Amino acid sequence: MSSVAGLRCMICGQTYAPDEVRYVCPACGNDGVLEVLYDYDRIRRSFTRQYLDDNHDFSMWRYLNLLPVSGRPSHLTLQIGWTPLYRSQHVGPQLGLADVWFKDDGRNPTASLKDRASAIAIAKAVALGEHVLTAATTGNAGSSLAGLTANAGLAAYIFAPATAPAGKIAQLRVFGSHLFLVDGTYDEAFDLCMQATERFGWYNRNTAYNPYMVEGKKTVALEMAEQLGFEAPDAVLVPVGDGCIISGVAKGFRDLLALGLISHMPQLIAVQAQGCAPIATAVATGQPVVCLDHPSSCADSIVAGVPRNRLMAVRDIQESGGLAVTVTDEEIIDAIGYLGRNEGIFAEPAAAAAVAALRKLITRHDLAPEERVVVLITGNGLKDVEHAMLVQGKVQSIPPAIDAVEHAVAAGF
Ligand SMILES: [Zn+2]
Repeated sequence: MSSVAGLRCMICGQTYAPDEVRYVCPACGNDGVLEVLYDYDRIRRSFTRQYLDDNHDFSMWRYLNLLPVSGRPSHLTLQIGWTPLYRSQHVGPQLGLADVWFKDDGRNPTASLKDRASAIAIAKAVALGEHVLTAATTGNAGSSLAGLTANAGLAAYIFAPATAPAGKIAQLRVFGSHLFLVDGTYDEAFDLCMQATERFGWYNRNTAYNPYMVEGKKTVALEMAEQLGFEAPDAVLVPVGDGCIISGVAKGFRDLLALGLISHMPQLIAVQAQGCAPIATAVATGQPVVCLDHPSSCADSIVAGVPRNRLMAVRDIQESGGLAVTVTDEEIIDAIGYLGRNEGIFAEPAAAAAVAALRKLITRHDLAPEERVVVLITGNGLKDVEHAMLVQGKVQSIPPAIDAVEHAVAAGF
């Protein structure tokens, strides 16, 4: 039995019993995103440091007490979560920061953080007796749901913009999903997926519309805290599109604060691309989010002109004392190479945006040298090779002769 106490609407504040509503607040419609509430008094009795020390499940399911499911789905056998948290060897020192960490969520089964949410979608669908799931995606959420449904023996209908990176479309094809490539933006694919959900009754994994996706994503924060010995970071840099991951990070740390396992809430730093920054603009100006019709960036994962989780994301950033940063596509491409060269971590453009933001924050003196900073790497670079190939100029081929190598080395190659 899960410890979910209820669901509360972000707009009207109405609370619902967990089995009363499946998706959004009936009174407020699709903007009435629901927040999942827990009975912390009950959880506190079993979820302790000792419990975790004795727990040998090194996956997201080690936090089952804090998840909205009664058990791990028995047919989902992929290992999701417990991704590495690396202390920066070179980037931090180069930037004058003593305590920088990279949480590499590109190490999940389908190479992005989205697996944490898809896992919960599958658990909920199975509990409801549903066998067909659907999602709209810029690429990662869909490829994640496709991979996990394949593993669990379920079906997935995915709606992705036809412009999604080839690597992500390849994943969708390999995992055997029913793939609709939509001639339009992600926001249009999202709307189409919603109409299909209504028409066919599939279980919907869409960000924010399904209130439980934040709960899966929060496990990345629970892991960060545990991997740091519950000495919470001072700041966490998070790439932001729909705003669901940053709310997941906030929720994870809020849970741990409520349980007395950490002493403070990290400052949440939202990173957006300059061509798609509605949440960053709202945070900077204090005004409501203004959605965009024509967002654009090379960082496809965070190109959401209509951020579905905008209300919760802005609230969470502000409540953490956080801020927002925008970075250009040039800075993002440069950061892919910078992170790769200096740490051996290959990030997709959206994830590299957080590294670009780290560099920018230093020049602005927005981070102190002694601060503990975690940079969330949300997806692997192999998902988008086309942009990664821009990192270096064209590499010339050579004849298969040692003289050619010698000549190049002598010339300083
Ligand atoms: Zn409502």
